[in-house]
Amino acid sequence: MSATILVVDDRAGIRKLLQEVLQSAGYEVISAASGNEAITIVGQEKIDLVMLDMKMSGMDGLEILTKIKEEAPHIVVLIMTAYEELEVLQEAARQGAAACISKPFDIDELKELVAQKLRAASA
Ligand SMILES: [Mg+2]
Repeated sequence: MSATILVVDDRAGIRKLLQEVLQSAGYEVISAASGNEAITIVGQEKIDLVMLDMKMSGMDGLEILTKIKEEAPHIVVLIMTAYEELEVLQEAARQGAAACISKPFDIDELKELVAQKLRAASA
């Protein structure tokens, strides 16, 4: 059974890119454009991994991370940031984020990181 990945980003282009890349790698992909939408989906669907944009209007990325981890602590969360913000990344790691990916992505590195974190979570 393939893993289900939730992509959370306020930019449609990023959601579409990740959807295509991850689907072609064999994953089920659901996407959300906001924190509220993401949290609703996490409560309804069996999600294995979340790719979470840290910079979105409305709910802050760290707040979304906290709520996801409260709802479903087993979910692997990968943080996506457009630039290095050490304090935010440290706080995200404290709150249970598995890794951070810098935008713009290297697609091969991204796929490898997703596969690696899913393997680690199911081991
Ligand atoms: Mg954004």
